[in-house]
Amino acid sequence: MTDSLPEALRADLQALVGEDGLVTGPAAQAYARGYRYGAGRALAVLRPASPEAVAAVVGRTARDGVRLVPQGANTGLVGASTPDARGDQIVLSLERLTRIEAIDAEDRTATVEAGVRLSALNAAAAEAGLWLPIDLGADPSIGGMVATNTGGTRQLRYGGMRRRVLGLEAVLADGTVLRDMRGLRKDNTGVDLKQLFVGAGGGLGVVTRAIVELAPVLRRTAAALVAPASVEAIPAILAVLERRVGDLLTGFEGMSAEALGAALRRHPTLANPFAPEPLPPYALLVEFGAAETDRDLEALLVDVLSELADRHPALVVDARVGAPERIWDLRHAISDSLRHEGRVIAFDVSVARSRLPAFRADVTARLAASFPFLRVCDFGHWGDGGLHLNLVWPEPHDDIERTERGVRELVYETVDAHGGSFSAEHGVGPLNMPFYRRYTPSLNRELAARLKALFDPLGRIGAVDFA
Ligand SMILES: Cc1cc2nc3c(=O)[nH]c(=O)nc-3n(C[C@H](O)[C@H](O)[C@H](O)COP(=O)(O)OP(=O)(O)OC[C@H]3O[C@@H](n4cnc5c(N)ncnc54)[C@H](O)[C@@H]3O)c2cc1C
Repeated sequence: MTDSLPEALRADLQALVGEDGLVTGPAAQAYARGYRYGAGRALAVLRPASPEAVAAVVGRTARDGVRLVPQGANTGLVGASTPDARGDQIVLSLERLTRIEAIDAEDRTATVEAGVRLSALNAAAAEAGLWLPIDLGADPSIGGMVATNTGGTRQLRYGGMRRRVLGLEAVLADGTVLRDMRGLRKDNTGVDLKQLFVGAGGGLGVVTRAIVELAPVLRRTAAALVAPASVEAIPAILAVLERRVGDLLTGFEGMSAEALGAALRRHPTLANPFAPEPLPPYALLVEFGAAETDRDLEALLVDVLSELADRHPALVVDARVGAPERIWDLRHAISDSLRHEGRVIAFDVSVARSRLPAFRADVTARLAASFPFLRVCDFGHWGDGGLHLNLVWPEPHDDIERTERGVRELVYETVDAHGGSFSAEHGVGPLNMPFYRRYTPSLNRELAARLKALFDPLGRIGAVDFA
């Protein structure tokens, strides 16, 4: 990497962010590699320590037309939080914006700076019996969660980030600050501009502060692993549970035996809950949760599952109630365990949830016909129609790039044929932009590109090009 920041710009930026705020040279490259995808070259890294300093550096870099990539916790999975290979982008890290300004128990809200980690917010909110109910296997920043509209395992019950944002402050490409920090739950006074930033991948501006709606912590949970009679039966099981317990249903996750098997092989401390029976071909994690402590959710879960087995014998063949942490451990162990089984080609796709069985059958058959060496190790958020269709390639041969391209074409074509989305919850970035261009209707793309041009006429903020 050559550090080619013009001297005048360097001096001005250094003055705006202070001693620790400007990173150049080899140290900057630590910010140029993503958690799983994305590896480029950073011209420099800016680490402003306040929202005002963010506005100042965005404004100053605008004068030189320098491109900026906002970065939160860098856990994104579409290569959008890191610079490209050209070496002319500055990473704008929000990691020093860590102030939790307020936890308001009466409003049930938190006001935070964008770099606050989800774990830090939840630790602070716990004192008031509250949490930001978005549950995932990473510890992202609130700004990154806004930019990617994070979903997670409890979206079924609580919605994704879009539903949680009640206030936002963002710095636009010229350094001006757009601010709606009133924290209103009701406000029908025209276009809700703050919502445009949710899921925009940082392409419309840099989020500096947010007000998010919290929920009472789940003090009681009960969980079971359920073996459905078939994958086709899963939407009907979900419908029965929703009708029977409503909002008490806080988790409904699906896991193939291939995915669970990988978790069990990698983590000898985890056990097959169906033992001595083998793993069923597919298993469902069903969780009930409540804020009240006096509710016997485990007894309710046992009752509901027995009813299900008695009244709908065609839906369920087995169910095991167990310690919720142990069951979630199994679910959370899957993703990284698969990486020890071979090369993983990962997809985060969705279809209408009633269509998941048909989509899964179709894509599995097509993959078996064209790529028989891949193992389908899927798992996902069946309550929201989201599927992490992870494909393990045990012994990759030397045609890796061409094969992966072919696999991606096949999977996304099938998703599109089932009316689904090529990115259910991970957002958009360089990794999936070719598919954005192919599968997003041209009018939608054109309007998104016009919005981008309006907010960021030089196209210098973010790694996402909506054109
Ligand atoms: C193990 C693991 C499990 C995961 N599970 C899930 C899951 O279940 N559900 C899910 O939805 N995601 C999941 N993710 C993906 C990821 O954690 C989320 O996308 C997360 O919201 C990214 O937040 P971040 O702070 O890490 O953002 P980054 O990775 O730093 O950035 C992501 C995007 O947001 C932009 N951005 C970051 N901060 C700002 C800001 N302040 N202003 C404007 N733009 C900004 C970046 O430019 C980039 O486009 C998982 C990731 C990992 C590694």
